[in-house]
Amino acid sequence: MAQLDLRRKLSILADAAKYDASCASSGTSKRDSFGGKGVGSTEGMGICHAYTPDGRCVSLLKVLLTNFCIYDCAYCINRASSNVPRARFAVDEVVGLTLNFYKRNYIEGLFLSSGIIRSGDYTMEQLVRVAKTLRTEHDFRGYIHLKLIPEADPKLVEEAGLYADRLSANIELPRDEALRRLAPQKDAGVIKKAMGQVRLAAEAAKPGKRDRVKPPRFAPAGQSTQLIVGADGSPDTEIMARSASLYGGYGLRRVYYSAFSPIPDSSSVLPLEKPPLMREHRLYQADWLMRFYGFSAPEIGEAATNGMLDLAIDPKLAWALNRRELFPVDVNTAPREVLLRVPGLGVKSVDRILSVRRWRTLRLEDVARLCRGVDKVRPFIVALDWTPGGLTDAVDLRARIAPDPKPVQMSLF
Ligand code: SF4
Repeated sequence: MAQLDLRRKLSILADAAKYDASCASSGTSKRDSFGGKGVGSTEGMGICHAYTPDGRCVSLLKVLLTNFCIYDCAYCINRASSNVPRARFAVDEVVGLTLNFYKRNYIEGLFLSSGIIRSGDYTMEQLVRVAKTLRTEHDFRGYIHLKLIPEADPKLVEEAGLYADRLSANIELPRDEALRRLAPQKDAGVIKKAMGQVRLAAEAAKPGKRDRVKPPRFAPAGQSTQLIVGADGSPDTEIMARSASLYGGYGLRRVYYSAFSPIPDSSSVLPLEKPPLMREHRLYQADWLMRFYGFSAPEIGEAATNGMLDLAIDPKLAWALNRRELFPVDVNTAPREVLLRVPGLGVKSVDRILSVRRWRTLRLEDVARLCRGVDKVRPFIVALDWTPGGLTDAVDLRARIAPDPKPVQMSLF
């Protein structure tokens, strides 16, 4: 009976955790061995994938400690006024499940979040106890991602960082005004203060060259956050500006974007429709451009219409089409930061170009070999045997590179 109870709790609390994108989950179609056919199951509750600082992909048990919550955030399925089945794990139950799954090689770590029960301090203390028990009593070496309760005592946040690899506090909405309206018990200032504390503690934990004794480790995989897209009226340019300020101000490793999805019994203050998933994808691409390609948020926003990114083409191509006076660039002489702005050239392609051009002058076919596809690159570069002539400024260049997708026959039924 106890086993059944635990399984039921796991089913509720893993399902409730799936809305948090700050530990990205992998989606897959249903395949399982129930009914005696086949081996294994992709429907197992609460397993998600995340990337560690060294780039490894790890499977995590992703659960909430509880989905009871005293807060009433309009966009959240676990809000106090929501009519969902509730459950709560004891600390030892989460510890036991984690160890059990870990020893069987199902998972390589734990992502643990929670609704707020009693108070921020009490909830954070419970989360910290799970991580502390795993580390100190069971010598658990797996990955731990803990959700921060921003209202909690800074001492608890400090303790969380000693045991967790990554910490995250969700800023949730791009506009502070929207947070006040949709999550009246939350305070953007308090969330940012907790992020600031994590940043300072992480910097203090970096060993100096002359330190004889290493400072205690603190969340070595850094901190992340989640922004919900499409729940308030924020356009993409505002979302990118908010992300840029979070990266700059708090040293975040990742901002995750989660397209708002209408929840059962949702509040009437929320939109009825979800935004196109492509919007979330374009924001991830824009985020990538800010982190690895030297673009600023306003630069990416130059090509936006009414603050919204073009859904039909990627943001780098949209920017380049809008700034054609900067092209073509010579692949044999242009510096790295300029090559990174050429549509179709990724970081790896640019590094390969820089390495090969030390020994020989590149022709178009060399560039084609060093990148994924040369069609997108060609209008924006000059090589030893190639110049685009009028192609860069051609009126129909966009249509030539990214033809509109073929119309799809709508179903009559
Ligand atoms: S605090 Fe808000 S977002 Fe978090 S679980 Fe409670 S209702 Fe949901």
